[in-house]
Amino acid sequence: MIMSTFHNERRVKTRKPHRCEWCGKPIEVGETATYSCGKFDGYFYDRYAHPGCEKLIYRLGMIECDYEGIDPDGWRQSVRDTYEGLAEEKITPPFDEMLRVVLQEYVWDKQQRII
Ligand SMILES: [Zn+2]
Repeated sequence: MIMSTFHNERRVKTRKPHRCEWCGKPIEVGETATYSCGKFDGYFYDRYAHPGCEKLIYRLGMIECDYEGIDPDGWRQSVRDTYEGLAEEKITPPFDEMLRVVLQEYVWDKQQRII
């Protein structure tokens, strides 16, 4: 069997506005983003994402064997589930707040940089 799957990613400073593949929010011109491209199952793909949003895929173990099996809905669900595991109260905040808490726990260092 020939392995035709590949995946590349790098940090870029955007020259055009984009939308984050995962959280769906805008990535402004000049912002740092993670650009990924590759080939999976015969299909080429590319995407822009906030570095933190992209990192969550790895930090939350969303990658098992089926990398492109992650879609934005699955990503959001995973963030929600993780938040519920962290939260003490049972009140569900807006998604952005859940994402902030999860990023803080899994992706940010003490200086609040995305690592
Ligand atoms: Zn994002």
